[in-house]
Amino acid sequence: MLLREANDVGVQFFLNTTASEVQHDTEFTLRTDHSIFRSPILVIATGGLSIPKMGATDFGYSVARKFGLKIVEPWPALVPLVLLTRRKDVMGALVNRRLTTVVAAIVATLISLLNIFLLAQTFGIV
Ligand SMILES: Cc1cc2nc3c(=O)[nH]c(=O)nc-3n(C[C@H](O)[C@H](O)[C@H](O)COP(=O)(O)OP(=O)(O)OC[C@H]3O[C@@H](n4cnc5c(N)ncnc54)[C@H](O)[C@@H]3O)c2cc1C
Repeated sequence: MLLREANDVGVQFFLNTTASEVQHDTEFTLRTDHSIFRSPILVIATGGLSIPKMGATDFGYSVARKFGLKIVEPWPALVPLVLLTRRKDVMGALVNRRLTTVVAAIVATLISLLNIFLLAQTFGIV
């Protein structure tokens, strides 16, 4: 569906192309390993820092830092979320009830197991 919508408005795709540098004067200049693009607007959708082997890079963060944007330092979230939200000293009145914590822990465990399985499948281990 996304491809069809993009094709309808004449989007050009440049696959296997790595963006390496962004500069800004009157417009943005994006340097890639194949060419240089100039545009008044630049949208960066290079994802977060998860698994480098799956294509994750810190490109988005480095561009944000270069242009002085505030960055919340990334850190693993799912398990800490469950652990922190059960602590009254951290959450105050918003602390999770016991039942919520138990359900969240079960869901987090299932998601973690599923992700381990998907990773193993992606890298041909299973
Ligand atoms: C193992 C794993 C399991 C997950 N499981 C779930 C789940 O069950 N449910 C869920 O909702 N979410 C899940 N997520 C999170 C979900 O995958 C991400 O939130 C989502 O993919 C983010 O989409 P995005 O388009 O922002 O970035 P991405 O999907 O990461 O896409 C970014 C793209 O930019 C490319 N790129 C990076 N740097 C450059 C560069 N310099 N030049 C050119 N291209 C570049 C990357 O190669 C990638 O193709 C999971 C993530 C991981 C790693």
